[in-house]
Amino acid sequence: KELPGDEETSSGTRQVHGAFWSRVEPTPATSSSRPYLISHSREAAALLDLDEGECHSQDFVNLFGGKEIASSLDLAPFAQNYGGHQFGHWAGQLGDGRAMTLGEVVNSAGERWEVQLKGAGPTPYSRRADGRAVLRSSVREYLCSEALFHLGIPTTRALSLVGTGDGVYRDMFYNGDVKLEKGAVVCRLAPCFVRFGTFQLPAVRGGEEVGLVRKLADYVIKHHFKDLEGEKGGRKYERMFERVVEDSAKLVVHWQGVGFVHGVLNTDNMSILSLTIDYGPFGFLERFNVNYTPNTTDVPGYRYTFKNQPQIFLWNLAQLGSALASAGLFDVDKGQEILDRYGDLLTSAYESQMARKMGLSEYNQDLSIGLMKLMSDCRSDMTNTYRALSQVTRMQNDGIGGEIPSKLDEVLRVAEATEEQREGWLEWIKEYQALLREDPMSAEDQAELQDATNPCYILRNHLCQEAIEAAEDGDYGPVNDLLDLLRKPFEEQEGKEGYKRVVPKELDGPGVSMLSCSS
Ligand code: AMP
Ligand code: MG
Ligand code: MG
Repeated sequence: KELPGDEETSSGTRQVHGAFWSRVEPTPATSSSRPYLISHSREAAALLDLDEGECHSQDFVNLFGGKEIASSLDLAPFAQNYGGHQFGHWAGQLGDGRAMTLGEVVNSAGERWEVQLKGAGPTPYSRRADGRAVLRSSVREYLCSEALFHLGIPTTRALSLVGTGDGVYRDMFYNGDVKLEKGAVVCRLAPCFVRFGTFQLPAVRGGEEVGLVRKLADYVIKHHFKDLEGEKGGRKYERMFERVVEDSAKLVVHWQGVGFVHGVLNTDNMSILSLTIDYGPFGFLERFNVNYTPNTTDVPGYRYTFKNQPQIFLWNLAQLGSALASAGLFDVDKGQEILDRYGDLLTSAYESQMARKMGLSEYNQDLSIGLMKLMSDCRSDMTNTYRALSQVTRMQNDGIGGEIPSKLDEVLRVAEATEEQREGWLEWIKEYQALLREDPMSAEDQAELQDATNPCYILRNHLCQEAIEAAEDGDYGPVNDLLDLLRKPFEEQEGKEGYKRVVPKELDGPGVSMLSCSS
């Protein structure tokens, strides 16, 4: 309630001025629907001090399935107002069209978690859409939020995945086919869901609204950048922007390290806390190709490809900086100066991550680029290739006698690498092993560092798709099995070889490795 809101209960889609939020209530599509629990994350439940029994109760399912807001809980749910640049163009007001915050929980550790439902019905920001989410997109958001968390990547969290018992219509194939799908609600958690676009909307609208930019910055600093509150005068706003630039650089480097491609890096999908947010048509890079985009909507422009992500972050940061500067929080030159540090921050975070992936104390550009060229040439799986390197590391003193170490050999066999390509790999391995030997770290320390940096399991789209299909048929085992596996992505798990399977060539394209925004 510290920020201005549109106190009236929502009545239809509209432009909302002078406010950051509007009151809403979840609305099940049909009053007779019966929500059911598909999965919950133990680790996320612990953030709210919920125990296993509570997660399985009917109250839990009703609340987090958007079936009812127990008025006895005294909640005042709201949807947030924000704008954004979509695919490089200013799109005006967007807002939470299918998300709503139930409230905040302050847990026993004193942490504040905002609790949000996604897919619980329309809001004043739904525009022409229905405010609902289908099971397939909800499974994806649910699993990937928790997968990234367990990979050590900053992200919004997912508490639960609840089937609503209602049907949702979606245009599936861009050919006029409309399918009735199962509806679901994901409950997601974050310290705060403010986006770059939350600052942009009042800044772009101008006039009286501009004052809201400062109010929002004060709010975000007070609750989320507490250490900056004491900064004198305008310094705190500069420092906030600096922090966002630094943390954004770190986030995108994490993504590049595991091949995560967000797919819709619009400014409304950029968290002010530099969390991964709004999982839509995301994907993990499998058969290595820096031009991979999971988003079929992006195909003509290739704006949101793997290799473009660091550059797009900078572009988005520039939009945030210009919103803050236009509201007078700092001057444009200062904003530019802060933005100018992004390149160095990015490079140093990237180089140190690449060094760890290679098990080296220092980054070696030729070696890393050489590896990427080899992976690109034979389209070997990114995750399996990096994971196989620790074996090469462990063999650094034995020599390989003209043979590619077995784990990497298996990866190349799956990639159907040619004899000529294998020759290239052999040469690269020799150079790599020479560098490993020169490095001051011991072989075992190098290999351990690699195994703690290069995951063996990621959320592969085709495996996620199998779990989705089972869930659509009422079998939630595979969703829960995937979640369980992804809890320990750096540990080899017995009997789980199947989860390392690379996307079959016939599925590597629209439909499985690539998806649309329509969810
Ligand atoms: P996204 O690309 O998923 O981040 O969504 C962009 C905007 O469209 C946001 O304002 C969403 O809230 C809105 N939106 C997406 N899907 C729906 C939906 N099914 N119903 C209402 N609004 C939606
Ligand atoms: Mg979004
Ligand atoms: Mg979204």
